[in-house]
Amino acid sequence: MTVTDWQALAARVTHPSGLLIDGAWVDGTGGRHSVISPIDGAMIAEVSFASEYDVDLAVMSARRAFEDGRWSHKSPLERKEILVRWSELCAEHSDELAVLQALEMGKPAREAQAVDNRAVIRTLRWFGEAIDKVLDEIPNTARNSLALIQREPAGVVAAIVPWNFPLTMAVWKVAPALAVGCSVVLKPAEASPLSALLFAQLALEAGIPDGVLNVVNGHGQVAGQALGRHMDVDVVTFTGSTAVGAKFMEYAAQSNLKRVWPELGGKSANVIFPDADIAKAASTAAGSIFYNAGQMCTAGSRLLVHESIHDEVMEHVLRAAAETQPGNPLLADTPMGTVVSAAHLTRIHAMVERARGESGELLTGGEAVLQETGGSYYPPTVFDHVDPSDLLAQEEVFGPVLAVTTFADEAEAVRLANGTQYGLASAVWTCDLDRAVRVSRDLRVGVVWVNCYEEGDLTVPFGGVKQSGFGRDKSLHALDKFTDIKTTWIELA
Ligand code: NAP
Ligand code: MG
Repeated sequence: MTVTDWQALAARVTHPSGLLIDGAWVDGTGGRHSVISPIDGAMIAEVSFASEYDVDLAVMSARRAFEDGRWSHKSPLERKEILVRWSELCAEHSDELAVLQALEMGKPAREAQAVDNRAVIRTLRWFGEAIDKVLDEIPNTARNSLALIQREPAGVVAAIVPWNFPLTMAVWKVAPALAVGCSVVLKPAEASPLSALLFAQLALEAGIPDGVLNVVNGHGQVAGQALGRHMDVDVVTFTGSTAVGAKFMEYAAQSNLKRVWPELGGKSANVIFPDADIAKAASTAAGSIFYNAGQMCTAGSRLLVHESIHDEVMEHVLRAAAETQPGNPLLADTPMGTVVSAAHLTRIHAMVERARGESGELLTGGEAVLQETGGSYYPPTVFDHVDPSDLLAQEEVFGPVLAVTTFADEAEAVRLANGTQYGLASAVWTCDLDRAVRVSRDLRVGVVWVNCYEEGDLTVPFGGVKQSGFGRDKSLHALDKFTDIKTTWIELA
């Protein structure tokens, strides 16, 4: 699409604005809610919000659908055909899905198209195609018995997702849950319901039966909490902050012991050794914190660099920062869009202001830009010589803010990389294979990248350790979250 195309499409794109319950778009009883675009601060839509009562209706509809087998009893082959059809419809409507994501949360429409929509299209297809190839087990027990080990769908799944990758996070949960035969209630983030609503409408068009996929827009405190505490939700799959992930575990403990799969925040490090391809390492590290305006669980928000190559690395990082200035996400060549909202920009800036009083030295950025637009634009911001105990090196900013720290040797590098409460991802940059393997083994994270960043594939699981949570999205491992293992013993004569 060209520049004018994205803008023209933004003016005419349509989407549902209600809640999806039992296959129908209905008005919730939680009031109407304005969706504000971070591009210019303008209201782009009003959507209906769910109260606890509406959440209850959605869970009941999911439960009925699950129990009567309209989806859960379909053969895997039949479910696959519908998921693949849904994937095709998402491809047909990719422009609208991209522009809605750009409008609601400010990422460049081009990136939404190339990255998020590609994830949506591929994930629906991958889990659809996978599910009729997953086999159950029969162990070799005694001759007078037969034992079956079977995967059964866990029941009603609540998927609660954030706004940074509104559709990618939703599809990583919805696709495997539906593939195994569960029913789903999806709660999009308050900031980003529009793309999720269109995505769900396409599910209906693809033939997902009524009640199998429900969508409840709403406040986390209301709709999210109601799902977390619901006595008839079997599984919560959650992506978001560590604080809210902990809440869901509390809700589960205080209700029905539902299983909670938290996929949470991070403070990931790029660790660059002197024998690395420095230009590649430094520019990739910069991209890993500036991409999506730093609003990524895997943002490379810490740069740990050997003291001997510090100056050279910083030259590349600062050049990348200068080349990644934010702009209107509906323009075709914008390298970085907005942050999600004015409130989030204020939070990011407060953390930057606090960091100014800490040990580090601000090299670039640090003030909102393009304020005359009414939008929420924050530039790449780099702090050098950050003490590892500073809050900037410990806390997730969720904005384009990089903390740089030097190290003297491998042991210190590993200690610094592991020195936060998080354990989502980290990257090691070195041309020494022994070192790459040694350091990878010592990093306490769910994902290690060696001489790359953000590599991913649907065949490969994604998720963290420590306070980055323990759920795994993608790959056949994701099926474990949404299935129970049943064993059946049959005595033979
Ligand atoms: P968040 O504030 O934790 O919100 C995530 C979801 O939980 C939203 O739908 C939110 O609703 C809901 N929620 C908020 N408070 C709640 C409560 N008290 N009870 C129940 N639900 C509640 O996270 P965010 O700000 O949207 O997203 C950023 C976070 O997500 C970062 O920490 C990031 O690292 C993490 N993330 C992790 C991964 C991963 O795979 N590990 C991927 C992407 C993002 P509202 O929208 O109404 O607040
Ligand atoms: Mg939030």
